[in-house]
Amino acid sequence: MAVIGAGMAGILAGAKLRERGVDCVIFEKADRVGGTWRENTYPGLACDVPAHWYTYSFARNPEWDTLLAAGPDIQAYFERVARDYGVLPLVRFGDEVVSLRYVDGGWEVATASGHRDRFDVVISAAGVLHHPNIPKFEGAESFKGAMFHSARWDHSTPLDGRRIGVIGTGSTAAQLTAALVPRAERFDLFQRTAQWVLPRPNLAYTDEEKARYRADPAALEALVQQYRSKTIDGYATAVLDYDSPQLAEIERLCRENLETVRDPDLRRRLTPDYRAACKRLVISSEFYGAIQQPNANLVTAPIARIEPEGVRTADGILHELDVLVLATGFHTDRFIRPAKVIGRGGADLDAVWGDHPVAYLSVTVPDFPNFFMLGGPNSPVGNFSLIETCEWQLGYILQLLEGMRRGDYREASATHEAMDRFEDERRRAAERTVWVTGCKSWYLDRHGVPASWTFTYARFVEEMTAPRMEDFETR
Ligand code: NAP
Repeated sequence: MAVIGAGMAGILAGAKLRERGVDCVIFEKADRVGGTWRENTYPGLACDVPAHWYTYSFARNPEWDTLLAAGPDIQAYFERVARDYGVLPLVRFGDEVVSLRYVDGGWEVATASGHRDRFDVVISAAGVLHHPNIPKFEGAESFKGAMFHSARWDHSTPLDGRRIGVIGTGSTAAQLTAALVPRAERFDLFQRTAQWVLPRPNLAYTDEEKARYRADPAALEALVQQYRSKTIDGYATAVLDYDSPQLAEIERLCRENLETVRDPDLRRRLTPDYRAACKRLVISSEFYGAIQQPNANLVTAPIARIEPEGVRTADGILHELDVLVLATGFHTDRFIRPAKVIGRGGADLDAVWGDHPVAYLSVTVPDFPNFFMLGGPNSPVGNFSLIETCEWQLGYILQLLEGMRRGDYREASATHEAMDRFEDERRRAAERTVWVTGCKSWYLDRHGVPASWTFTYARFVEEMTAPRMEDFETR
């Protein structure tokens, strides 16, 4: 088997395939595991999902210092799991997969270095938040200071006492604001769209608590389940129905948080004109405090262009800067692309998807036999643990592989009928979600259709529990 990518999902696949004695190669273009946690090293990087839940079910971690873990600690966790579960020797580092072709009942994998190999099954674990979105601002090349995307942090650039600008107001920009305001001489946040911000104080765990979780795995699991059910009953239910009491409660908490902004004009400019949770909620107990500091400045006039000295906004003001960070997000419709994936009968995944990637139950695409995805199109996304999501998806894929191991079939792909039925139903369910209530976000594709799972999380779990083989074409 081939696994593409050694981030959170690729490490998971490697660990579980190795446990089952499946011969497996993991292709990783970089020289370290970790995926998004390897690539993002910006100041303030953290995970706003409770740390104990953001772990593999088979490798819970009693050692987290705080409710929300810092990025470097999460990267260290993934590196440790990859080492402890024997994943590292499976990884072929430093070579990018450029094409996958289904020929004579197997996948031919080609890499950038010219390496070629053949596999029975491919699992794409290529990630979603992976290809930086770098907007084309007029004059960007003329900027005399340092300019880089948040996921390509230039650690040689000094920050202390400098004039720093951040473009964007997503989860990344909120974390950057809290981390950089105390260090900058002046800090400008360029906001195109205001965000709803849900507070979540980052509680610290005491040594006694850590010792208890270390000694008592059941207590640790109970803590994980407590965070899990709170999120699934709250957020994951709220987003599915824009009239739900759960959504009303999230909105109330966000509004209450916004009230902590003292200056009425700043508060007005920070007030979104769409429903809470329509975009991904920003979770932060520090953002509003930081943006109210005397050296912080919220810029709401649109960016006109970038000049050698800084950013010129449409109101004519030049915001002079030494450092400009693009916290402008990612191209989230790429998945395994730009790798070329050619399935049965010459089907080209790029053409099949275009600007509306879909996957039957988020895992597989008709005409691409034995090609499966973790965190692929239509996966549940949001303010909860994608690790758990990928574990469910892998469990589903492993059951399909079991049929191959038993000799029931050599290849399996979803039928077109099953794909169309799933997609019709998914789109209908999307009509009641908060994502379509009038905002722009990466949760929507270019046609304004939610790209994610639009059913309950319970249904996702149920679907992943056992494949319905009548929805598969097997040979
Ligand atoms: P994002 O949520 O996509 O936000 C991008 C920001 O850049 C938005 O404010 C957007 O404005 C702005 N922007 C984009 N192009 C622009 C342009 N041409 N001019 C002005 N502004 C522009 O990106 P992100 O903050 O990097 O977060 C991406 C995802 O990463 C999150 O949704 C989350 O899933 C994940 N993440 C998670 C955590 C965590 O703690 N778990 C932390 C960071 C990131 P508009 O809103 O107007 O489009």
